Amino acid sequence: MSKARLIDGKKLAAKLRKTVGTQTLTLKKAYGLVPGLAAVLVGEDPASQIYIRNKETHAREVGMNNFSRRLAKNISEAKLLKIVSELNADPVINGILVQQPLSKKIDAFTVIEKMDPAKDVDGFHSFNLSALFRGSGGLVPCTPKGCMMLLETTISDLNGANAVVLGRSNIVGKPLAQLLLAANTTVTITHSHTCNLPEICRNADILIAAIGQPKLIKGHWIKPGAVVLDVGINRIKTKDGEQTLVGDVDFDEVVEIAGAITPVPGGVGPMTIACLLENTLIACCRQNGVPVPEI
Ligand code: NDP
Repeated sequence: MSKARLIDGKKLAAKLRKTVGTQTLTLKKAYGLVPGLAAVLVGEDPASQIYIRNKETHAREVGMNNFSRRLAKNISEAKLLKIVSELNADPVINGILVQQPLSKKIDAFTVIEKMDPAKDVDGFHSFNLSALFRGSGGLVPCTPKGCMMLLETTISDLNGANAVVLGRSNIVGKPLAQLLLAANTTVTITHSHTCNLPEICRNADILIAAIGQPKLIKGHWIKPGAVVLDVGINRIKTKDGEQTLVGDVDFDEVVEIAGAITPVPGGVGPMTIACLLENTLIACCRQNGVPVPEI
């Protein structure tokens, strides 16, 4: 059997960023508007610092203004909420995100709910999640949105396909299941209490793993020809003691069975950032009452 086709998230994300950059320039020329993104980082978590830096770099590259805030690890919840209120009120800031995880002293849900939903470019606010249920009107969470774009470029017709989502988090698994449902797939959501996980996975035409368990998904779990998206980002040590990134899928095994697969890194990750930029552009247009460009 031939190896699975690689789904190139890096390439698709670069294409999306280019389009967002073009539309950002058009917005500036036509209306004098420059989308502004405020990414808030609390503390010094190494992975979060990398994510924030990537978001800042790409925002600048597409011509957006960057208003990132780096806050002390021990900031109180009250102080963070006050900063979110200030960002909500600032008209040059169109998109706000607060990088997670936050410290145990801060309730992430309270912080998200404090955001103006029109500026919640991560799409985590309950207004945006209920819009997702309704099927229109909100800002769609970035990783699930990116997964759908990857699927749409890989599969010509999603109608009636069996989709299995591993993981039920509020930021990936649950919103992704909603989008898959809206695309007329038949969706199964699994979690850490699911029985017979390999058997359920073997029934999937589309398998999306978002569980944070390095290389858990093995080749014999996969239906031959299935499309596999690996959302997981896990830092593990190699035999030589080096740090490396792996997904939730055992790539070397699964690539032999699947029809198409995303690599880690270079699959879903770049799409998440590109979708964040797209959401910031959309947010800017909506806040200023100008037409949202076709992307
Ligand atoms: P969470 O920890 O919030 O959720 C993990 C989910 O996986 C839970 O629903 C959990 O079940 C389930 N789970 C855990 N272990 C197993 C298991 N052995 N079998 C079946 N289900 C299991 O994670 P996130 O959704 O935030 O992230 C998931 C992964 O995706 C992580 O590796 C993260 O780094 C990565 N990620 C990548 C992004 C990207 O841009 N590529 C963006 C966001 C996340 P239960 O609910 O029962 O606990």
